[in-house]
Amino acid sequence: MRYISTRDASLNPQKKTFTEILLGGLAPDGGLYLPEAYPQLGNEELNRWRRLSYAELAFEVLSKFIDDIPSADLKALVDKTYTPAVYCNGRDLKNAGEITPIRPLEPGFGLLELSNGPTLAFKDMAMQLLGNLFEYVLEKRGETINILGATSGDTGSAAEYAMRGKKGIRVFMLSPHERMSAFQRAQMYSLQDTNIYNIAVRGMFDDTQDIVKAVSNDHAFKSRFKIGAVNSINWARVVAQVIYYIKASLAVTQSNDERVAFAVPTGNFGNICAGHIVRMMGAPIGRLILATNENDVLDEFFRTGVYRPRKAAETFTTSSPSMDISKASNFERFVFDLVGRDPAQLRCLWGEIDRGGSFDLSKTPYFERLPHFAFVSGKSSHADRIATIRKVYEKYGLMIDPHTADGFKVAFENPTPDMPLLALETALPAKFAETLMEAIGKSPTRPPAMEGIERLPQRVTVLDADVQSVKRFIEEHAAD
Ligand SMILES: *Cc1c(COP(=O)(O)O)cnc(C)c1O
Repeated sequence: MRYISTRDASLNPQKKTFTEILLGGLAPDGGLYLPEAYPQLGNEELNRWRRLSYAELAFEVLSKFIDDIPSADLKALVDKTYTPAVYCNGRDLKNAGEITPIRPLEPGFGLLELSNGPTLAFKDMAMQLLGNLFEYVLEKRGETINILGATSGDTGSAAEYAMRGKKGIRVFMLSPHERMSAFQRAQMYSLQDTNIYNIAVRGMFDDTQDIVKAVSNDHAFKSRFKIGAVNSINWARVVAQVIYYIKASLAVTQSNDERVAFAVPTGNFGNICAGHIVRMMGAPIGRLILATNENDVLDEFFRTGVYRPRKAAETFTTSSPSMDISKASNFERFVFDLVGRDPAQLRCLWGEIDRGGSFDLSKTPYFERLPHFAFVSGKSSHADRIATIRKVYEKYGLMIDPHTADGFKVAFENPTPDMPLLALETALPAKFAETLMEAIGKSPTRPPAMEGIERLPQRVTVLDADVQSVKRFIEEHAAD
């Protein structure tokens, strides 16, 4: 399997292997990496996969995308990642081999549990694999990496729990000082691992993101200190998410002719991009229900064909904060497929986006082709979220988090009588106790490992929102 950039329109496109793109972010031309063709799943293969455990399936799936890590090593990495010991934090797993159990709610409708990992959000599903892959590849090459990131919550904690104690890796995670919840702060800052550096920046989330951009644009600094990223454009994160769509599709069907629908709370289009890829591979996915919150740039596109990223100042702060995005960083991967994988066309569209503009496909043949990709979209507001959390609690006795609620809301609006529907659980409600309190007057119980974490000692350095101070801190603490 070789990887190409969505924007490489040269006669002889550069092709890379999996480990060549693993540690990097964007392609040098500014595009995103994708397989040069999606592997196609056969009938017999899918039938054989129906009997596999999560880890066994993960190995089979990843083997289709990774051909430059020896099989035995890949197997060991996958077994170490997808073990019940890692994915049991949230609750008792009835079937320990499942990793992503399905909780049936009514005939043809269920919750796909993806948030039983160490930080109680679905991002652990991919990030835990990334941590093990990074450590393996760096060790092979005798290299080190300094991961620099900015977080308003879920991504930072998932990255830190995945990278803690890993050889050759240091993490510098910027977060807005005193703007995260006490629980979120405790989750990150209480880690005592010496390779994890929490930097609380006196400013807003946008300031932290600007600092990361400024540091990454200083190419000399970046290469001298081997600065890397684990943001959601990383291909390995997308491919790790492919696994659970296949696992779940096979779990709720008897034969490969049946179809399954998934409802996906969406921000950067990373999670649902994996669903799209799985459908393109020929797995039995019949519909992808995309839910946004008040930040509805993607809902607008799927309804109208207009993609109009918002300015930072036009981005709403909502009660499903991990979906508060103005520009969906993985969307380019989908549009590449939509325009028939024409990198010249893609360059032209994203030229507009990179200049701060928008594009409109409504009067193009691409928009007519959109229904073939099986997306349905909708949006959810704070009032919808609260009403949905309440309704789901009353109807099924189930507490869901505000992001998952956005998915349920749009799923309820788009019933799929012709196929089973699974709503993706992107976080546990324990992470968002305030919103649950508002909706149902009750606080969700916390997994035992998270009890009282606010009282643990914290390791964090507070810095001004200043690029030089952050660079100096990295210089003093970087791995060499
Ligand atoms: C990151 C996140 C999302 C959005 O996922 P994308 O891959 O960015 O679309 C939704 N819900 C939660 C809880 C998240 O942490």
